[in-house]
Amino acid sequence: MKICGKREFELLEKMSFVRMGGTAEEMKAAEILMDEIKAIGLEPVLEPFEIEDADLVKGELEVLEPFNKKYTVTAYKLSESTPEESLVAPFYYAENLTAADMEYAKGKIVLVNSLTLDNYRKLLKSGAVGFITMSGTIIETEENSDLFTRTLRGTLRKFGNMPGANIRVTDAFDIVKNGATKVKLTAVNTPVTRTSHNITVTIKGTEKPEEVVSFGGHYDSVEFSTGAHDNAAGSVINMEIARYFAENPPKRTVQIMWYGSEEMGLWGSKAWVRDHEEELKNHLCMINTDMAGVVIGYDVARVIATKEATAHCDAFMKRKGYNVGVTQEIYSSDSIPFADKGVPAVNFVRFGHHVGGTMIHCRYDIKEHLSAEALAKTTQFVLDYGVELVESVVFPFERVIPTEMVEKVDKYLMKKEEAEAEAEKK
Ligand SMILES: [Zn+2]
Repeated sequence: MKICGKREFELLEKMSFVRMGGTAEEMKAAEILMDEIKAIGLEPVLEPFEIEDADLVKGELEVLEPFNKKYTVTAYKLSESTPEESLVAPFYYAENLTAADMEYAKGKIVLVNSLTLDNYRKLLKSGAVGFITMSGTIIETEENSDLFTRTLRGTLRKFGNMPGANIRVTDAFDIVKNGATKVKLTAVNTPVTRTSHNITVTIKGTEKPEEVVSFGGHYDSVEFSTGAHDNAAGSVINMEIARYFAENPPKRTVQIMWYGSEEMGLWGSKAWVRDHEEELKNHLCMINTDMAGVVIGYDVARVIATKEATAHCDAFMKRKGYNVGVTQEIYSSDSIPFADKGVPAVNFVRFGHHVGGTMIHCRYDIKEHLSAEALAKTTQFVLDYGVELVESVVFPFERVIPTEMVEKVDKYLMKKEEAEAEAEKK
């Protein structure tokens, strides 16, 4: 089979709509993928899982003193709602949550530059009554950008909850510059449980069916984004790989997976490893493709496995003459839950040029920045590398996650903080 970038691009065009986890649009994308899988002659398995989400009811910030002006905000999903009639409090801009900042934040609605877990814990400790984060850039306007909705993630909520909202950085600039001292915040949301889906295709190995190599990537997007680069691209690359193995029966079992709700916190891959825990001991490697296809960019492989596995991948790329920078490193994507369960993972990523060859997680992640040629180029080495693993006489590396990678994965999953939250409760 010859890799066909044009065919990949056509499938990507079909998926060119916003596909947020747990929505009807994500399901529509799943159906498009399943139709294609069936057309190849393979049998897709659709697996539902539940995700935590919220419906937004209301978001507004009104400055009451020393001037009066209303600003649009979005309520933080899963944050405590303000009373319907809103929360009135003094306003304070806590630039970096120093000890002094914490002293001044008490009883106030506090604007922060970023809401790391560390910052959030300081806010809770300070006695602030609400928080506001900013998104976007200072050059954006209402016409050329969108105001994002954010979620107060589970790990943060374990430490406590308070009303929160997100505002455009340009509006935050206006509020701070004009010296707001008293505000009225209305941020109301209703928690809901939604259903999202993973799609799995299994092609049984002819010689070592008990050993599994999987290819994966998420197919959902964030709000306002058609997620062409991130990650319709990885989805169509995996379809091309499915096509190859349908025509060329593999020695080891190949599984190809399209994960839902990655953008909301790796829900799909977390659900998969939870629901298939028994099978994971036979899982020798997970190959994840998250972001590809951009014309202006560069390819890397991030290996969450041993130094030997990393060297093997690097040597493979060099021997074949592929332009792929290989490092032993974690990557924020569906490979994390697998690595956490001891499955070596290799992430293929085509990043955009750092000065803006592409833009993800916004309305500008569009198919126009991608090409069939760029898709085919990445597909070639993802497939080649995959075939190397699937067909090798002896598997080239051990199913081991070394200590230094375990530490990084644990840190990423905030395990220490989760334990601290548990301890605080007791
Ligand atoms: Zn992604």
